[in-house]
Amino acid sequence: MTVKDLMASMDYGPAPESDTEAREWLATHAGKLGHFINGEFVASDGETFSSHNPATGEILAQLPQADAGTVDRAVQAASAAQPGWAKLSGHRRAKYLYALARLLQKHARLFAVLETLDNGKPIRESRDIDIPLAIRHFYHHAGWAQLAEQELGDYQPLGVIGQIIPWNFPLLMLAWKIAPALAAGNTVVLKPAEYTSLTALLFAQLCQQAKLPPGTVNIITGDGRSGAALVEHPDVNKIAFTGSTDVGRRIREATAGSGKKLTLELGGKSPFIVFDDADLDGAVEGLVDAIWFNQGEVCCAGSRLLVQENIADEFLGKVRRRMEQLRVGNPLDKAIDIGAIADPVQLQQIKDKVAQGVAEGAELFQPDCLVGDTDQGCFYPPTLLLNVESSFTVAQEEIFGPVLVSMSFRTPAEAVAIANNTRYGLAASVWTENINLSLDLAPKLKAGVVWINCTNQFDAATSFGGVRESGFGREGGRNGMLEYMQPRYETKLGSMTVTKAGVAPAQDDDSIDRTPKFYIGGKQCRPDSGYSRTITDANGEPIGAVGKGNRKDIRNAVEAAAKAEAWSRSASHSRAQILYYIAENLDARRREFVSRLQQQTGQTKGQARKEVELSISRLFSYAAWADKFDGATHTIPMRGIAMSVHEPHGVMGIVCPDEFPLLGLISLTAPAIAMGNRVVVIPSETCPLSATDFYQVLDTSDLPGGVVNIVCGDRDELAGVLADHYNVDALWYHGSVEGSAAVERASAANLKYTWTSCGKRYDLLRREQGEGRDYLRRATQVKTIWAPYGE
Ligand code: NDP
Repeated sequence: MTVKDLMASMDYGPAPESDTEAREWLATHAGKLGHFINGEFVASDGETFSSHNPATGEILAQLPQADAGTVDRAVQAASAAQPGWAKLSGHRRAKYLYALARLLQKHARLFAVLETLDNGKPIRESRDIDIPLAIRHFYHHAGWAQLAEQELGDYQPLGVIGQIIPWNFPLLMLAWKIAPALAAGNTVVLKPAEYTSLTALLFAQLCQQAKLPPGTVNIITGDGRSGAALVEHPDVNKIAFTGSTDVGRRIREATAGSGKKLTLELGGKSPFIVFDDADLDGAVEGLVDAIWFNQGEVCCAGSRLLVQENIADEFLGKVRRRMEQLRVGNPLDKAIDIGAIADPVQLQQIKDKVAQGVAEGAELFQPDCLVGDTDQGCFYPPTLLLNVESSFTVAQEEIFGPVLVSMSFRTPAEAVAIANNTRYGLAASVWTENINLSLDLAPKLKAGVVWINCTNQFDAATSFGGVRESGFGREGGRNGMLEYMQPRYETKLGSMTVTKAGVAPAQDDDSIDRTPKFYIGGKQCRPDSGYSRTITDANGEPIGAVGKGNRKDIRNAVEAAAKAEAWSRSASHSRAQILYYIAENLDARRREFVSRLQQQTGQTKGQARKEVELSISRLFSYAAWADKFDGATHTIPMRGIAMSVHEPHGVMGIVCPDEFPLLGLISLTAPAIAMGNRVVVIPSETCPLSATDFYQVLDTSDLPGGVVNIVCGDRDELAGVLADHYNVDALWYHGSVEGSAAVERASAANLKYTWTSCGKRYDLLRREQGEGRDYLRRATQVKTIWAPYGE
């Protein structure tokens, strides 16, 4: 056959990449590798496991299983190295990261081939996507190390970071984790996935070549038991995890109350929405990238196709024809589109889930795309499940394989409703030529990333991460750096004194007539329980009574907050006006608030005045911030823009400290509502009367009903109800270590974002501790919107 004939027929002809160098590298280690601890490879006599090539079943290497002792050695090495690493100038750290980027670049093909051998992904993808993006990450973060002193001077590193990564993008996930952690001045212990540890160990060699100080990067191999030991190690200051939602939930529970910082990048079931005016051929190619890239083993894979009903037949016809042209086979073959599934266990899960979809009533389309010798490997064809309904398991559960489910919609509103009908919120892709429509949809989609007329775009300068059960925290860019740092003042916080309110029965005197109520949905409500508590002054004398809130009151408050959804879409200018108005009305009643503070806390008039003054000032600050906490546009290596916007969480629970009955309430509530959240507030347990007075201020300040809801009662009991509630999207808790632990543990159910004080005392009288950007960051989540441009 001539080249001319080949060009005419475009017939398949294998174009295999040589694996000689990768095999030589394995041979130099005699197929046996060790952990990388304190700058050296460490032999282990204990339990081992084998790493396979999923395309052939061949064993590539034997690796040691890290037990608790090994994890401890690695953490100790990282701990010992951390102060020295953090003390280096940003420029010195930048030079190390730059060296790692250069070394990766020099050995790019070796990494690509080894990754393909170990994971089964097509060489075209490891060569053109995984490795270049990993390199880009080190370059970008060399830049952050260089600029950290100027740009992030108010922050300091956290210490030792435990990092646990999955098998779908082994080196890329390593780069996403290690580069920002080192740039910020932390040291790391990283555990790659059991199936795919080889490129991490090759990277460890580069750390030696770059002469990285011993202990700065430590890599331990092993399965989930090693991961769990790392999570539980007391000297680890943060866990950064990417993987399944189930394991993410377990890690949330295991770290509860430990004070460890946590970011979770979890699963997804991302919608790929095609409107009738889209460039359909472009959308088909986008879909190939969305679901058949990396065998569909991608957390943000566009695994749910939503296509507008009037073009569904035409579009699905194009999709089927395109699927028939895909080639599944030897991942080292450059003519292959879909390689091998990472492991037989994963392959079986995919088969089971597809069988379940068919049993539920889905129609199966599965062209025969296998080429070459695939008998011994874990191969699975590109798969389309048609006539799927939102209630089907395959429409709700992550399949993590090359399986697309298809549904249709009629209107944009219906598209949004179906797209959001999932517990996940990682990414979404929207295809339309109508810019108005796409930009209208982007904020309505519950996802951390929205791609307009594109899909699976990533860059080190932009933020990536999810909402809902796709986790919290962001990787990439400035936001990603901040996840590896903490405000300097946080290391100097003292301990909070937690007091319990008295439980004396309500007094049978005048004060009963003045029993303040709760404030729910803009109305004063009596407590469901029918019980009241006496509130005493600093000398223990009764000064009033408040209702004792219960589960039902919290549920009513959450429902009211959920209904006030228009607040989250309101203009920031309007929110600012209302915050100014609240401040104005508080100012008008300052004397009354001063004496109430004195009465409850026994503070001097001067101290009480200061608290009221600061409360008014803080309201002004957040009125000012409402239209100034802007997102950013990012310079990305494509003809397009990536915009990051700050979005409110939605419904937030806020549990206030006892100290500062008024200032505590305002310092926590004002930033949350300024950013567009609706809140359910549990005020100071011992001194709630400033909060119940304050709702009268809210009532006269044009604040829409349901934006702020106040329920008094036992702090920890009510916090528990908020933490358990599925419609609460985020929770701030200022209270004891035990209370923080309980809140974090319970929040694992829907993986809500939490900020807990863990028994620490924030001195709210000091501006750096009581207001500013850190509060606003915690009150929002970043959404990144990508849009390519050009004809
Ligand atoms: P896991 O979430 O189990 O694995 C991710 C990482 O966590 C691995 O390094 C794993 O170790 C480790 N790990 C496992 N258990 C624990 C634990 N208790 N404590 C700490 N670390 C732990 O994902 P799987 O690899 O098992 O895949 C299962 C499913 O998860 C897939 O079918 C897919 O649906 C989803 N998934 C999602 C990913 C995403 O990026 N969103 C990535 C990978 C999988 P080891 O692998 O060695 O057991």
